Amino acid sequence: MIAVSKKKSVEDIQEALDAGQKSFGENYVQELVEKEAHFKEKANWHFIGHLQSNKIKMIAPFATLIQGVDSFKLLQEINKEGKKIDKVIDCLIQVHIAQEETKFGFSEEEVEALMLFPELAELENIRIKGLMGMASLSIDISLLKKEFSNLKNLFNNSKLMSFDPDAFDTLSMGMSSDYKIALDCGSTMIRIGSTLFGERK
Ligand SMILES: *Cc1c(COP(=O)(O)O)cnc(C)c1O
Repeated sequence: MIAVSKKKSVEDIQEALDAGQKSFGENYVQELVEKEAHFKEKANWHFIGHLQSNKIKMIAPFATLIQGVDSFKLLQEINKEGKKIDKVIDCLIQVHIAQEETKFGFSEEEVEALMLFPELAELENIRIKGLMGMASLSIDISLLKKEFSNLKNLFNNSKLMSFDPDAFDTLSMGMSSDYKIALDCGSTMIRIGSTLFGERK
């Protein structure tokens, strides 16, 4: 479980650390940088938001996992930063599974094409650890099940196509409102914010 601590204070994070939580997710680069400077290696830091190329270098040195990589261009840029600091950076590919138009991510077809992309294997300073997705903002359980199950199938197929199938072991899906359904559908990583920390202002 990743504790999503965006907009939450260092006191809130400290409380979660004291309770044994180790991994935290943040959506905003500046906020993540400040919190990392405060806690350092006491916590693992996942970036779960939309990452702009010019900000990769701010999080590359310490990010445990960059979730939500939504273009090949961004993978190339992350690889470039990884090379500069001699680090292999773990990434998840974000897949657009929801009905809302605004969410970022690859389509299912684009993910399958990406996995077969010869240029992908040449990016030696990134490691594709799996997929990440967000379901529709809906209370229709059958719709959510369908979206998560589709992503699980895509995950299995992508793992088979992966250049490094052993490393391809993470399926990040499920948030406060839908994590139980996501776990039933094969999620290996849930990202929980408001259920842990209370509603965000
Ligand atoms: C905010 C956020 C979460 C956590 O959402 P909650 O509903 O508060 O659990 C999970 N994943 C992403 C990508 C987020 O932006």
